[in-house]
Amino acid sequence: MATATQPTVNHYKAYKPRPFSRKERETTTILYGGLTWKHERIIQGTMHNLNYNAQPLPNVARADLDAGKEMIDVGACCPTIFTTGNLVNFLKSEVANKSKEEVANNYVFLTAGACGPCRFGQYHESYTMALDGLGLRDFRMFLLAQDQLDQGSQDGGGLEINLPLSMGLIWAILCGDVLTDLEYMIRPYEVVPGQTDQVMQESVELLYEAFRDRPLYDNKWRTLAWHLTTDYFTGALREVRKKWDAIEVDRLQVKPKVKVTGEFWLQTHEGDGNYNIKRWLESEGAENIPPPIAVWLHYLMHPEIRKLEKRHEMTNRARLKMVIMKAVERLYNSTYNRFRKALGNLPNELPNQIELKELADPFYHFELRGGEGHMLIGKALYAYHHKKAHMVCELTPYSCMPNTMSVGSMAGVLGKYPDLLYAPIEIKGDAEVHALSRCQMILTEAKKRSQRDFDEVLEKTGLTVEAIRQYEERHPELRRATYRVPHMGYPGTAANYVMHLAKTGRIGRA
Ligand code: SF4
Repeated sequence: MATATQPTVNHYKAYKPRPFSRKERETTTILYGGLTWKHERIIQGTMHNLNYNAQPLPNVARADLDAGKEMIDVGACCPTIFTTGNLVNFLKSEVANKSKEEVANNYVFLTAGACGPCRFGQYHESYTMALDGLGLRDFRMFLLAQDQLDQGSQDGGGLEINLPLSMGLIWAILCGDVLTDLEYMIRPYEVVPGQTDQVMQESVELLYEAFRDRPLYDNKWRTLAWHLTTDYFTGALREVRKKWDAIEVDRLQVKPKVKVTGEFWLQTHEGDGNYNIKRWLESEGAENIPPPIAVWLHYLMHPEIRKLEKRHEMTNRARLKMVIMKAVERLYNSTYNRFRKALGNLPNELPNQIELKELADPFYHFELRGGEGHMLIGKALYAYHHKKAHMVCELTPYSCMPNTMSVGSMAGVLGKYPDLLYAPIEIKGDAEVHALSRCQMILTEAKKRSQRDFDEVLEKTGLTVEAIRQYEERHPELRRATYRVPHMGYPGTAANYVMHLAKTGRIGRA
């Protein structure tokens, strides 16, 4: 007890959620968020398949930044502020119509957790601080560890983080990724404005239903084997492909290609949280290469493999673990490739993690973990050396230590490769004009390069735009969104398209 000379001390107590019991499952909704609406809807299919009530939080909006700033420490990185504010605003809107007790009982929040040197390991602390501020300490929040697929039943049994859930979530993410890749490569060239978005909506619904109706197995190994071998998801993706067939595109529009990289949440997000930069780039006449979440999941496998490689002594146990890890990696890649193949091999392949590491190695050590680690350097150089993009737009969150390090290291990269077009954009959430105008400066140069490439290809091949258009009239299949244009050594779609047509040798020269 406090005396006149001793002030009351409130000791820190770590947040521990109240149990979420099995019988509460029917009346409780699991909230989640942080990805794109496409990923979240397909994930909802997985959750409904397992009989959970599940609902994604509304997409992050500018108002979430203000709500987050009010509730957590001022030095937090911008993704922490946005995502905390997002949860806060949702809970506030619920509390406006229900009692706090009802809100705390009707919802639980499921979020990814990790440890490591960046704030990602402490997101839940920010959420806790915000819950305290809202007077909702009783609200339950659970962490989905990124490296444990089978965490078992959470306290109370209402939520089971088991293989059917984890495999469903990963497969949903991979399907969301290949679909997103398709979306960004088609929309800039669509002939009927809005058709891509319409088809995307239908495709996501089709996949939602496929995940919702997926068969379930009691046995862990059967669950694993089924996911790795079934044609169930590739069949659904082939149905999706038929929908994309209907979209007509004009690939003769010359557009710069922009590889979007950056901090995990910022690069994935589509909305106010990153100034809606991917849509903005399209409105400025560019084509984006969006960042698949699959690359991050792939990256997470590698520290363990590196650790095993660096052991002083290779025991039989370590050797076996290494064989298993490499087999898991192969299965992961082959699943992603099966999904790509079902979409006509249109989505981009995953970059090789060893190559990313080696490309980044002279500038950024792979053991410097936190944020995206060496991958930001590796991805920029990968796009540059393989001629995949005219420029790289790196989204760097305000107050993010790991990303600041990679932007610093890029100075060394640019010293060695001065013609690499690189636009590091700092995102604070409230300095949009400044950030976009910086990006626009680099984009202007990227536009010139894409036009230069296109003119060069026309000259090299002797083809003309008119001759190609006449040929397209006789071969309308060329203007289908699902027609695959192979990479012919140029970053831009228009240049690759002309080069590809020239290789077929069927179009009359000028
Ligand atoms: S990588 Fe940066 S922005 Fe992302 S959680 Fe970590 S500190 Fe925050």
